[in-house]
Amino acid sequence: MTKVVLMGAGLGGIVMAYEMKDKLGAGDELTVVHLGTSYSFVPSNPWIAVGWRKREDIAVELEPIFARKGIGFRSEGARRVHPQENRVELNDGTSLPYDYLIIATGPDLAFDEVPGLGPEAHTQSICQIDHALHAKTAFDKLVEAPGPVVVGAVQGASCFGPAYEFAFILDTALRRAKKRDQVPITFVTPEPYIGHLGLDGVGDTKGLLESAMRERHIKWITNARTVKAEEDTLFVEEVNEDGTVKKAHELPFGFSMLLPAFRGVPAVKDIEGLTNPRGFITIDKHQRNPTYPNVFGIGVCVAIPPVGETPLPVGVPKTGFMIESMVTATAENIAALMKGEEPRAVATWNAVCLADFGDEGIAFIAQPQIPPRNVNWSSSGRWVHAAKIGFERYFLRKIRQGQSATFYENLVLDMLGIKKLKEIHIEAAE
Ligand SMILES: Cc1cc2nc3c(=O)[nH]c(=O)nc-3n(C[C@H](O)[C@H](O)[C@H](O)COP(=O)(O)OP(=O)(O)OC[C@H]3O[C@@H](n4cnc5c(N)ncnc54)[C@H](O)[C@@H]3O)c2cc1C
Repeated sequence: MTKVVLMGAGLGGIVMAYEMKDKLGAGDELTVVHLGTSYSFVPSNPWIAVGWRKREDIAVELEPIFARKGIGFRSEGARRVHPQENRVELNDGTSLPYDYLIIATGPDLAFDEVPGLGPEAHTQSICQIDHALHAKTAFDKLVEAPGPVVVGAVQGASCFGPAYEFAFILDTALRRAKKRDQVPITFVTPEPYIGHLGLDGVGDTKGLLESAMRERHIKWITNARTVKAEEDTLFVEEVNEDGTVKKAHELPFGFSMLLPAFRGVPAVKDIEGLTNPRGFITIDKHQRNPTYPNVFGIGVCVAIPPVGETPLPVGVPKTGFMIESMVTATAENIAALMKGEEPRAVATWNAVCLADFGDEGIAFIAQPQIPPRNVNWSSSGRWVHAAKIGFERYFLRKIRQGQSATFYENLVLDMLGIKKLKEIHIEAAE
């Protein structure tokens, strides 16, 4: 009997649970350790923050679904991984032993790295559903008493798409409330140029996003280091190529949402051989930790080097499709190891992203995610907004039904010529 433990039932973890379960035999055991009993669809958080979605629209109770599928579930959360002893210690003090461990714990949000940052201080966040609901209260106040808005990401962030999305969604929501004329919006980012996205741009994301921001009267500051946030003012240093300060900005705000830097969660941080200095899980091309080869990492919690040098730290994003490719590779590789074979599956790490503006949007495909690429495509239009809603509904239905079948992805991605896995056979022949 093989025991598999999976930590974290977020976007990557829940799909991982379904795909892994399908690979296990009747006598094998899969247990998911999660913080809390429900899953919620993170990409919809920007819509929560302006009141276009409610918690119940995007949240799913996991216990009944996992019970139906024969997947063990512990909602206490993991306190610490003990990889030398092959066990995970839970927050209630008990331990789960494992033969294989999959870590899918997403990011720890490093608000503390910038004074005054975050929902417990002076700026809003959309990273978690509770943050987005908190931001909705602040948004309502903004509509009642309009004032300047600052949106963006801080140095070290590795998730830029949602920051752009949120600036455009705010613009749309404020226009609908007929308050946009009283709300100057400034976008603040450590990226060296608009549309870099941590990927050195994809297709013409620079041109598309700059043009959309000009059309919607959103000003921007790039190469921006956020120094601190006070109750109603953001202090930002715009830096030169060599990192020296070019200009200091004091940006008054009535509402501000800034994405923080990410790091690994406390349950894995500072474990020699398992994580890098930021607490991200180090993995090889088979998603496997080199020191502890029965431990795998998927999703935002894994370590990926930046695409190139930038004056301020700008991380590579880990987007949904890329995460699903890590999931499929991990399930294949654990199944191979259980049969006594070597792991061969390699995730493609392609980035497929739909960035919604609330009425239209931009889409991009980076294949592979790190340049130079075979596919480097971006486009814009109203279809992006419709596709994002379609994907949200499809994904949540799939999760509620306990299905890992990916007919939508297969259909769309076959059409676009993108696969989740590199050819296993080609890889094996190398
Ligand atoms: C606001 C926002 C919007 C995004 N929109 C998109 C989008 O439109 N398209 C796209 O491709 N990507 C998007 N992303 C990027 C990415 O797809 C998401 O961040 C995605 O949720 C990452 O999946 P994950 O499984 O790695 O982490 P998460 O979904 O964050 O899941 C990690 C889970 O692990 C749990 N956990 C943490 N610590 C422990 C512990 N000690 N024990 C047990 N459980 C633990 C957490 O509670 C969490 O539920 C977005 C990201 C953000 C922040």
